[in-house]
Amino acid sequence: MEERRKFRMGMVGGGPGAFIGPVHKMAAELDGKIELVAGAFSQSAERSRGAGAGFGIDLGRAYADYREMIGAERERKDGIDFVVIATPNHLHLPVAVAALEAGIAVMSDKPATATYPEVLELEAAVAKAGVPYALTHTYAGYSLVREARAICTSGKLGAIRKVAVEYLQGWLSTPLEATGQKQAAWRSDPKLNGPGGCTGDIGTHAFHLVEYVIGARVTSLNAALRTVVPGRRLDDDCNALLRMENGATGTLMASQVAAGEGNGLRLRVYGENGSIDWRQEDPNRLRVKWVDGPEEIRHAAGGYLSSEARAVTRLPGGHPEGYIEAFAVLYREFAEGLMAWKDGKPNALPETLPGIVAGVRGMRFIERAIESSRTESWVEF
Ligand code: NAD
Repeated sequence: MEERRKFRMGMVGGGPGAFIGPVHKMAAELDGKIELVAGAFSQSAERSRGAGAGFGIDLGRAYADYREMIGAERERKDGIDFVVIATPNHLHLPVAVAALEAGIAVMSDKPATATYPEVLELEAAVAKAGVPYALTHTYAGYSLVREARAICTSGKLGAIRKVAVEYLQGWLSTPLEATGQKQAAWRSDPKLNGPGGCTGDIGTHAFHLVEYVIGARVTSLNAALRTVVPGRRLDDDCNALLRMENGATGTLMASQVAAGEGNGLRLRVYGENGSIDWRQEDPNRLRVKWVDGPEEIRHAAGGYLSSEARAVTRLPGGHPEGYIEAFAVLYREFAEGLMAWKDGKPNALPETLPGIVAGVRGMRFIERAIESSRTESWVEF
């Protein structure tokens, strides 16, 4: 069997004190298929080098600017195979386009861009370049989310009638941005974040999960966005009603002022015959309830799970897998797609991995929710 080298990753963002950049490194490297070799980790050259040292990369490849990184890396024989984008949202489009134009694949964090017009530009750039582009909607990587998806799309629940998704956090219950806290500061600045506050930051994850698990699209919504904390410039609370193409209706609640909540993402889907209930804070258990039968609790790694769930399980039952492993599932699928693409197959990323289609849907969701809230009416997608 031919020996494959590891794919080389260059990160943009993930500087000192960053949240998600280090998670990307851990997740990408978990399966031994990828290694971090370069980065423009911060907009300060010194901080970028500091992060590079912390990550243990060759400091000659810790760049001060993402354009410099892409330019220098494409000249190297051992240059990066893909760019991971872990910056505030306003940089997602320019970094992705610069990489795509250089023929370098992209793994971007969500939301795909800062605004809806930007994502249409990105969609065109992805199509033109013909280069792999994926989006880290982390929750799609959990094995029991794959199980929920298999249950819903196999028809076992019968016709899907109702969905209830909630994503409740409490960390912005106070004006944290006014203290200069890094993650809160850019998230409450429309120029760096885009127009959707909580709706864009976590509402997009909830929205993605609904369409991903049910396998049907939202066709219209009626949303009420609010800014609860005085002085905040973007919404921090969102309540929306949904209608879906399969006839189901539902609710989507997203809030960052749900005091006391941590990362409370929960999805419930109700069909004619039964329902599923999954919580991100208890991710190794999926509740399945039947109209006429006992309640089941399915455990991650159970031998009885669907092939889709078992394909993304690493450990035997009773050994909890969590956020980093779910993230790593997306990286493993990305690496497989990258390998197939390098072997000459177009559109090589697996359909289980969120990509540009999910990116456009997420940005459309933000734009539609803002419009619905502004006009206090139902809006079509
Ligand atoms: P953060 O503020 O912790 O980190 C952002 C990093 O980008 C910082 O290190 C900052 O120095 C760096 N940066 C800013 N401008 C830069 C530039 N011009 N060049 C290079 N680096 C630059 O933010 P975060 O919480 O890690 O969020 C980053 C992104 O990840 C956001 O888009 C966010 O929506 C997304 N995110 C996704 C998940 C998920 O579950 N998938 C979770 C958290 C955050």
